[in-house]
Formats: sequence, structure tokens, C-alpha cells
Amino acid sequence: MKSILITGANGGIGLACARAFLTDDPEARVFLGCRPNRSGAEALAAAHPDRVCVLTLDVTDPASWEAAVTGILTATGRLDVLINNAGNHKDSLLATMAVEDWHSVIATNLTGTFLGCRAVIKPMMAQRFGRIINIASLSALLAPAGQTNYAAAKAGVVALTQSLAKETARAGITVNALCPGYIQTEALGSDPAVLAELAKRVPARRLGLPEEIAATILHLATPAAAYLTGSVIKIDGGIF
Ligand code: NDP
Repeated sequence: MKSILITGANGGIGLACARAFLTDDPEARVFLGCRPNRSGAEALAAAHPDRVCVLTLDVTDPASWEAAVTGILTATGRLDVLINNAGNHKDSLLATMAVEDWHSVIATNLTGTFLGCRAVIKPMMAQRFGRIINIASLSALLAPAGQTNYAAAKAGVVALTQSLAKETARAGITVNALCPGYIQTEALGSDPAVLAELAKRVPARRLGLPEEIAATILHLATPAAAYLTGSVIKIDGGIF
């Protein structure tokens, strides 16, 4: 039985990951870490009551992490996969960026990933197996104007991933980062004109689907991906 924790699990990529694990492995137990906005996660749990559990998890709060991980270990005795997926962005030019928008984006994307890794690392070391998948962004590698906070946070996620991968490789734990380009979720908004404009910037001439991110995550989580660690994988339709 594989035990999986996904943060930001009510969002587009989080829900797609949860569905992918449920389809791929009939034994998988999937824990959906959410804030109060959780209707999509609860609908999935209602459809799979024995295999899906919705947890309260604000990734910026160390106590929230401790409660979530303790709950999972109590329920299943192990935690195999952590997907640090929760994220936010508050874009503006640096000259006018509110200090609280800097702190909020660093806290959610970077500190949240640090706290998640810290919360699971000891149980994963004890079981000599773990898969940590951190969702960064293409903005970490190709930082656009208007995203100094988000680009810095996601670049921090990439560096954290590479450093932690070296710390954990001998213990059977892999740590990898994904850098999605434009993926069709609420994070991009829903204005058709804006979405069409974004798609024109992509060599593949379309936005990515959450399921296309989930497919790579599924592979990274397998025992077969044991030698794939410290990697930074971009999934962007060829932008970079
Ligand atoms: P969504 O906006 O659909 O999902 C983001 C999720 O993160 C939401 O469920 C949100 O919950 C949650 N979240 C935000 N802050 C916190 C917090 N403090 N604690 C717990 N959960 C929180 O976007 P995506 O599914 O697209 O994003 C998933 C990840 O992918 C993010 O890290 C994002 O930065 C990254 N990404 C997305 C891209 C895209 O084009 N979509 C491109 C590159 C990277 P709530 O509803 O409560 O706010």
C-alpha cells in the first residue's frame, strides 16, 4: 500500500494528481491537504471513501504540517510520497510590490515546501523509501518581469530540491522539482482572450493540461524512478 500526501490538493494540478494515483494503483491511499476551500477534494473523497482523505493543511504553518503527517502515520503507518504543490502568486512590478505580497508568496511557495520536506523526512528515512516532488515553475528558470517574488520563491524551491536530494539519496529518498509552463488551471484565470494570448507564446500552440503534469509526477513516484533525483524537469510545450 502506497501512502501519498498532496498539498494544495483542491487546485487543478493537485486534483489531477490525486485522480492519477487513484487510477494507477488500486492500493494507494491519497491524502488531500487543503485549506477551507475544498469542495473538489471533498467530492473526490466522497467518491472514494476508503482511499481518499481530506486533511486541513496550511503549508505555511508548522503545527498544521505536524498534525497532518501524524494523522497519516497513525492511519497508514507510512508516508511514501509528498507532492509539495500548494502555491500562490501575487504579481506586480517590484517598484510597487507590497511587502506583504513578497512575504506571502515566499511563505507559501518556498517556506511551505521547506516545512513539508522537514515534516516527512524522518519518517521517510526510517522506512528507507520516499518520493518528494516539489512543484516549482518555469518562472524559476526564465524569470518574467512582474514576478520577482514568485520567481525568487520558485528558484528557491529548485535549489532546495537539489540540496536536499544530495542529503537523502543514500536513504532511498528521491527529491525532484517540476517546472510547469502555462497549465490550464485557476492559477491562469479564465479569460479566454488572455488564455489564447498565452497559448500563442507556446511552441506547442496550446496550454498544458493538469493531467500532463500528473503523468510525470506518477512516474517520479514509482520505485522504478529510484535513480532520478535532484532533477529539475520542465514541462512547458517547448517554451524554454
Ligand atoms: P490552483 O490555483 O488551481 O491551485 C493552487 C492550490 O494551492 C489551491 O488549492 C490553493 O488553495 C492552494 N494553496 C495556496 N496557498 C496555500 C496554503 N498556504 N496552504 C495550503 N494550500 C494553499 O493552481 P495550480 O493547480 O495551477 O497550481 C499548483 C502548483 O503549480 C502551484 O505551486 C503553482 O505555483 C504551480 N504552477 C502552476 C502553473 C500553471 O500554469 N497553472 C505554472 C507553473 C507552476 P486555496 O484555494 O485555499 O487558495
